[in-house]
Amino acid sequence: MVAPPGPPPGLRRRALRLLVICLALVAAWYGLSYKRDWLYFYARQDTVARSLPELGAALGRTGLNLQTLGQVSYGASNLPLWVLRKPALNPAAPTICLMAGIHGNEPAGVEALLALLHDLAARPAAFATHRYVVVPLANPWGWERDLRHNGDNRDTARQFVSGSAQEAMLLKNLFTAERCDLLVDLHEDRFHDGFYLLAYGESNMAGVENTLKTIESATGVSRASRGDHGVLAFQSAEFDGIVLTTAPLWARMHGAGHAFVVETHDALPLAQRVAIHRLAIEGLSRLLTPETSGQ
Ligand SMILES: [Zn+2]
Repeated sequence: MVAPPGPPPGLRRRALRLLVICLALVAAWYGLSYKRDWLYFYARQDTVARSLPELGAALGRTGLNLQTLGQVSYGASNLPLWVLRKPALNPAAPTICLMAGIHGNEPAGVEALLALLHDLAARPAAFATHRYVVVPLANPWGWERDLRHNGDNRDTARQFVSGSAQEAMLLKNLFTAERCDLLVDLHEDRFHDGFYLLAYGESNMAGVENTLKTIESATGVSRASRGDHGVLAFQSAEFDGIVLTTAPLWARMHGAGHAFVVETHDALPLAQRVAIHRLAIEGLSRLLTPETSGQ
């Protein structure tokens, strides 16, 4: 048998070159779109004013005590990490720690916490059973520029168990001092529809399921098909092997009883993503009062 003649070498080289160029273009597209909202969802760009003075003024208008936890420094710019607290009626009440915007190109969590802070101040009786410690914007440098990373080009959300990003160091000090019973870290996801949670060593999965159902019925948005019915649940024995070393993972390893990442699909309208984040916080807070969480 004589093998059929293949394409001439020149044609093969051209095809190979074209393949390499296509792969490079796909890689460049992915790399850029990973950082920039406008490449993927240009037509539906969120109308978020990315101005720290404006956000600081809006946080000040909540009427809650706005404090600077510390500064992060990149070149000549020093940017504040803010923290707001709301005490509980009972000094022994559980502490809920909340954070958002550690990926600067994920604005819905920041908006959700701003709205929540307004409610905490306006209706304190409705939130009297828990103490709140809120970091509304964990990566101000990235948020100002609509970029995922911090000013050292680090993915700060992966810098908690190991790593030394400025933002992570400040947050770890804060959460250690505050002794969070629950930490919720608000994110957005480009690739999965709906919403989902990352849960770390959670014992009350019935309460978590109730939260997901409540979000679905209140917003009409279905959970993503990630993990087990919209929850990526990590057991304590798996903690050391987790590559994405988030703040909730670190908090759960250091005494927090409950810790979650909340993810919403960033193709949803901003108001819907904000609503999902608010409902997630509300539902997960009930895990701290077990008598109601399983119903
Ligand atoms: Zn994120």
